[in-house]
Amino acid sequence: MKEWSVETLAVQAGYEPKEGESRVMPLVQSTTYAYPSADTLGDLFDLKIPGHIYTRISNPTVAVFEEKIRALEGGVAAVATASGQSATTLVIMTLCEAQDRILALSNLYGGTRNLLTHTAKKMGIEVDIVSPGAKRETVEALITERTRFILAETIGNPGVEVVDIEALAAIAHHNHIPLVVDNTFATPILCRPLEHGADLVIHSSSKYLDGHAVALGGVVVDGGSFPWDNGKFPAFVEPEPSYHGLSFTESFGNQAFAARARTLFIRDVGFVMNPMNAWLTNLGMETLALRMKRHSESALAIAKFLESHPAVEWVRYPGLHPDETVKKMLPSGASGVLAFGVRGGEAAAKKLADSLELFTLVTHVADVRSCVLHPATTTHRQLSEEEMKESGIQPNQLRLSVGIEDLQDLLKDLRQALQQI
Ligand SMILES: *Cc1c(COP(=O)(O)O)cnc(C)c1O
Repeated sequence: MKEWSVETLAVQAGYEPKEGESRVMPLVQSTTYAYPSADTLGDLFDLKIPGHIYTRISNPTVAVFEEKIRALEGGVAAVATASGQSATTLVIMTLCEAQDRILALSNLYGGTRNLLTHTAKKMGIEVDIVSPGAKRETVEALITERTRFILAETIGNPGVEVVDIEALAAIAHHNHIPLVVDNTFATPILCRPLEHGADLVIHSSSKYLDGHAVALGGVVVDGGSFPWDNGKFPAFVEPEPSYHGLSFTESFGNQAFAARARTLFIRDVGFVMNPMNAWLTNLGMETLALRMKRHSESALAIAKFLESHPAVEWVRYPGLHPDETVKKMLPSGASGVLAFGVRGGEAAAKKLADSLELFTLVTHVADVRSCVLHPATTTHRQLSEEEMKESGIQPNQLRLSVGIEDLQDLLKDLRQALQQI
């Protein structure tokens, strides 16, 4: 389905019914699959033929979701996971071993930041942090012999800084390592990181892909372009003892990453997406293009309104005064999340959040319902003061996730709440 636009792929990619089959993707709520002979099953276990063995490794409904996001991102394969966090963990496990390092941008989602600086550390993996605006020399100076990948977010959560994926990819490739981009906030409707040189794309599908805040999930899309046999990733090339000495680059070519991620780490850890969540996420994705357009238009209008309001100190929304990077990365809209600071510090920010009626206080973003969050006392409260500063979080800062409700109603709600601070 490569020739169709993302708007069409979001609706139709991943599932084509054969004669008499259901038009809508079926929900295969089964852990196991039947085969006619022991030899066939043996070949499946040896990865000689493709097919589903057990839902901890793959499932037909999850496979439809994987194929849809693969088509939307323009990759060669995708591996779905139980959550966005497990998608990032899957990338770490597939690319790193003890004593390796990760170079991460400082404005990453707080949960990712915790995963990298605390949990990965326990596995012997160290993280180096660089700010999204750093110069090339600064980034390169932090790349060591043991650095295995660079991790960035297209649009940072919650600071909404947009990164130049092309520039980062050039640095990564110059140093023979892949660039991994978390594209959760942009979605493939607004940005396709692989087209800008990224090698792997991560999503928390719990956000816009699902879009309705009903299904937790994640996915890693394999761009198929990174040369895993370049000497830095011997485990991709050398015989794998848990598969009778199979070499992933030899057996799976440009899908070596996805194959290795699924058949070693999804198999061993079991953090799969469940079929029901894949089914719900696929349903949500059918309206992804429509929703992203609406989220982007309303968020821009709200950013303009806030910028002109006397109680507001600053507004950050990539689409508000787009620089060259934003124009290049997000040509058709800047998504639904914006950050702003109010006059009166933390107390005023909290009062505003409490006074809003349509924007509810929830620890979520990126669904059809508008919501508000005070990062300093919620998602980022585990960070030290210095980490908080590094992540670009201020005490008077609020994050809005603009939903698809009527724009005039949302503006009315903001106006009344701003009057109360
Ligand atoms: C929410 C989020 C995650 C984590 O995803 P979960 O599905 O909640 O595990 C990762 N990255 C970004 C950018 C997110 O917004």
